[in-house]
Amino acid sequence: MIKDEDFISSQEVPGPSKEEIRCLVLCKSQVSANDLVVDIGCGTGGITTEMAKRAKKVIAIDKNSKAIDLTKQNIKKHNVDEKVDLIKNDGISALKSIESMDIAIIGGSGSKDELDEILELAISKLNPNGRIVITAILINTKLDAVEKLKQKNLNPEIIEVNVSRGHILQRGIMMKAENPISIIYGKI
Ligand code: SAH
Repeated sequence: MIKDEDFISSQEVPGPSKEEIRCLVLCKSQVSANDLVVDIGCGTGGITTEMAKRAKKVIAIDKNSKAIDLTKQNIKKHNVDEKVDLIKNDGISALKSIESMDIAIIGGSGSKDELDEILELAISKLNPNGRIVITAILINTKLDAVEKLKQKNLNPEIIEVNVSRGHILQRGIMMKAENPISIIYGKI
């Protein structure tokens, strides 16, 4: 796994998803060398870069041009730029131009309606045996994502990850909590 500090980051773009979260996303997506991965809302490129190290190809989408630029820098830094196609567009329009995929990652959505349409489109384009993984910070996104996957008969699962990092001080160890994040995932 790549260390958080080994990503080029910016105050203007969220991410990278923390190492422990990236690790769980890889695990729950069951990514392997033949997979085509689409990362919707690639942000800093944390998940895109990790996926590119393991999958056949990654298509990374973000509506923010600064996110696309940062992702470009990170895939280059970690030598996986040849495996990644970057699309600067909103998730819905970008997904319409993609034929099929093995893994869809949703790292950002926008409004409830946008999330609904992104999920609808992504699920409709999943190959047989395809997987979808959503990372969510808002309670609303967590609920909406589970509901949608349930409605589509994907048998969703959800885990909530609460990582506290230990800061080793002279006097002792102080644990500092990161934001809780849910990972919602399902399979065709
Ligand atoms: N997983 C990323 C961080 C994702 S941050 C990493 O490891 O670096 C979420 C991103 O989703 C933001 O950059 C935001 O611009 C993008 N986003 C939000 N809604 C979107 C939409 N509807 N279409 C495309 N990108 C979107």
